[in-house]
Amino acid sequence: MSDSTNICLSCGLCCDGTVIGFVQLDREELPLLRDIIDIENTNGEGFFLQPCNNYCDGCTIYSKRPKQCASFECGILKSIEKQELDFDAALDIINVVKQKKFTIESELALQQIELQSQSFYFKMGEIKKLIQKNAPELALTQSQLNLIEDIKQLDNLLANKFDV
Ligand code: SF4
Ligand code: SF4
Repeated sequence: MSDSTNICLSCGLCCDGTVIGFVQLDREELPLLRDIIDIENTNGEGFFLQPCNNYCDGCTIYSKRPKQCASFECGILKSIEKQELDFDAALDIINVVKQKKFTIESELALQQIELQSQSFYFKMGEIKKLIQKNAPELALTQSQLNLIEDIKQLDNLLANKFDV
């Protein structure tokens, strides 16, 4: 198995709602996927939200996965394919992202910040809007400042290393 296949098996950040928030489906894919994916419909088009219900330590419908899943390549994967990054260095970056996500989720729970979205990706959008709206008027606590800093660090990691 190649390093690029292996890294995706060790990662899963594009299936669990960290790197992307939804997968767009082609119209012709809908009949085949309707029974195995919770598809949201918009005028005959389809998409599904992350975290994907077919992700369980890897894709459980790998041979039938949507086209966008099969073609998606983040910056880490591209760097491995170009041999600009080796497997261990890529795994280190992925683990830093997973740890940062865990820290942010723990901070949100500790601070009892309730967000509407199921997906971590969209939760980050929600919390950024909340901060933007309220921050100028609030005297932020150290925990809130830490949360803002962690979100910034995660954003930078995702933008710089994953190209999203
Ligand atoms: S985020 Fe990148 S490395 Fe991780 S599973 Fe998706 S394509 Fe693979
Ligand atoms: S269908 Fe498979 S590859 Fe696509 S998001 Fe779900 S688990 Fe990931």
